[in-house]
Amino acid sequence: MQILTSIVVGFVVTQVSTLTTSAYLHRSLAHKAVTFHPGFAFLLRFFLWLTTGVKAREWAAVHRKHHAYTDEEADPHSPARLGWVRVQFTNFWLYRRAANDPVTVEKWGKDLAPDRWDRLMFDRGPLGLIVGTVLLALWLGWWQGALAFAFHMVSYVMLSGAVNAVGHTFGRRPYQNSATNLHWLAALTSGEGYHNNHHELPTSARFGFKPLDVDAAWWLIKLAQRCGLADVRELKNRTSLA
Ligand SMILES: [Zn+2]
Ligand SMILES: [Zn+2]
Repeated sequence: MQILTSIVVGFVVTQVSTLTTSAYLHRSLAHKAVTFHPGFAFLLRFFLWLTTGVKAREWAAVHRKHHAYTDEEADPHSPARLGWVRVQFTNFWLYRRAANDPVTVEKWGKDLAPDRWDRLMFDRGPLGLIVGTVLLALWLGWWQGALAFAFHMVSYVMLSGAVNAVGHTFGRRPYQNSATNLHWLAALTSGEGYHNNHHELPTSARFGFKPLDVDAAWWLIKLAQRCGLADVRELKNRTSLA
């Protein structure tokens, strides 16, 4: 029963992490599809710091490079070139290799200079992960907290890998690009599984174009917009979203 509690907590942490990754890192920072109120953005950044250890500028730079060179030699994680199994299981290292390249980060993250919060806190990824683990341990007890955090980290890394590997290999391709749409993957990744739609319209804050599509990050953005906490970019070509 205690193990089950750890797994459920780990799963929930992963879901909120994919939500913040998709809404903040991906749709807002990397593609400028939405701009969040600074206070709300801070909350999202704080949660990412606690649960992922990702440096925002690095993430956005590697991802922009993926869009610029999809399936070409410079694509940091192309299943067409490396095979989907390799991207699925080594995505973390493929990401790290690209993020450790200062030329990539300088070129593709030029507009994302670190602010004082990055310098003080958010660029210290391992510190955030330690604080996150300690908070879970204080809540659940040491071994249960550690288990929940470990379950979360493995799930988060595997789901990120799945978007890059499965989401460029299996599923529907309504638009002519190598990415695919998969409802089940979208449900597990806050809408990232509508990856074919996303490659078609990268600056759209909405990934699931149909009314019943499961696009949780879009729902969060709509809610934030209603509360005056988000400014969604208008697209010139809205017919694709009909
Ligand atoms: Zn892609
Ligand atoms: Zn993207």
